[in-house]
Amino acid sequence: MDEVLVVGASVGGSTAAETLVRAGVPVVLLERDLARVKPCGGAVPPVAFKEFDIPERLISRKVHHALVHSPSERTVAIDVIGTRPHSDDDYIAMCCREEFDQFLRNRAVERGATLIEGQLLSVAVDAKGVTSTYREKASGEVRTLRTTAVIGADGAYSPTARALGLPNLPRCVAIQERIRLPADKMARWEDTADLYLGAEVSPDLYAWAFPKKDHVAVGMGAGQGHTKAARQHLENLKQRIAPELAGGEIILQEAHALPMHPRPQMAFDRAMLVGDAAGLVVATSGEGIYWAMKSAKLAAEVLADNIANPSAAQLMRYQRTWWKNYGTMYRFLRWLQKWGYGGERQMEVFTDMCRNRDVQRLTFESYMHKNMAPMPWLAQMRMTGDIIAAQVRHYVPARPRRLVSSIGG
Ligand SMILES: Cc1cc2nc3c(=O)[nH]c(=O)nc-3n(C[C@H](O)[C@H](O)[C@H](O)COP(=O)(O)OP(=O)(O)OC[C@H]3O[C@@H](n4cnc5c(N)ncnc54)[C@H](O)[C@@H]3O)c2cc1C
Repeated sequence: MDEVLVVGASVGGSTAAETLVRAGVPVVLLERDLARVKPCGGAVPPVAFKEFDIPERLISRKVHHALVHSPSERTVAIDVIGTRPHSDDDYIAMCCREEFDQFLRNRAVERGATLIEGQLLSVAVDAKGVTSTYREKASGEVRTLRTTAVIGADGAYSPTARALGLPNLPRCVAIQERIRLPADKMARWEDTADLYLGAEVSPDLYAWAFPKKDHVAVGMGAGQGHTKAARQHLENLKQRIAPELAGGEIILQEAHALPMHPRPQMAFDRAMLVGDAAGLVVATSGEGIYWAMKSAKLAAEVLADNIANPSAAQLMRYQRTWWKNYGTMYRFLRWLQKWGYGGERQMEVFTDMCRNRDVQRLTFESYMHKNMAPMPWLAQMRMTGDIIAAQVRHYVPARPRRLVSSIGG
């Protein structure tokens, strides 16, 4: 009996597999399509490179500035700096998933994981183990695997979760085009990533332009109820920034679902879910790469510790630890998404909030370094004051100016 089946060899699955083999647990890593490139903006926090020992050569472009564009085209320029003294570690890494995922997958295999290209068909858990079937890609044949446990790292549609009898998660859709630009146009995105707000480009999330070495990835997210119009919204974005994209050539169009909520349960008897399969994308930003890797590592460590008895009671340590460490952040970012993207007027308030230096520094500190240190109370007061002022400014109608008659006097 192989010890663990990991389903999905993307960022989450490869990290889980590598963690397990390093702990001495044999792993089969099952991926339905090794040639597929995960649709993704590819923004990765710098902490991921240190924490997961990933070489910086996989960074296609380092970005040190961001522009936030409000629905009425007011623009806020932000330096990518956290709350600690400015250093070379302050940037957003822009990566191409075809390179990033392949590195993680190859490393897991080099360290001992057995990689199979095939599509998971079924999973059945019993008292002594897990029986899974998959269709092998090369032969087309259905094969059976018997393992001690299974980790589902198989994305937003998670066939593993479905096989465990779990419902589908609420999902949004994100679509993107990679556009290769002439050198003079590419210079615009030399060191800057853009966020666009507005009902015509993304009614309830945001749109973006994320630069890579030789192209810019232009995309948008659409929540439930808006997914059918996603392509039109992307066209609207391209119209809005048409002069900046002039002469560009579309080299790839991509779209995929993102989970909108974490699953209430992520650990079961002999089974665990990580990354998008567990719904661990954070709201507001749609960031999921780091969280898929982080959850996969934690799940694999807990499983390795309990491989002799992988009961739900033992594996629940993964879920408890996760929510103890990150519950507040997920709840806050969910609230921020609803508050900040809830209509165009609110998006204007959100843009104003981005002007505040303390908000900028706190946001990038927590994004880049995953450091959730509380701000000094004075900064908190300044931020709160600014946000209330912006809220009032955009909702209280401006008083009509008194006309002063010049006649007669
Ligand atoms: C357009 C778009 C832009 C995004 N931009 C960003 C960004 O800039 N930064 C960021 O951090 N996040 C971004 N995300 C989110 C990020 O892509 C995901 O959160 C992340 O890839 C999740 O990793 P994962 O390993 O959990 O799942 P996935 O990357 O989805 O991988 C799941 C794997 O499982 C495999 N699989 C599925 N079914 C089966 C089966 N039946 N049998 C075998 N294998 C199977 C798939 O082929 C795939 O390789 C974006 C998402 C989208 C859609």
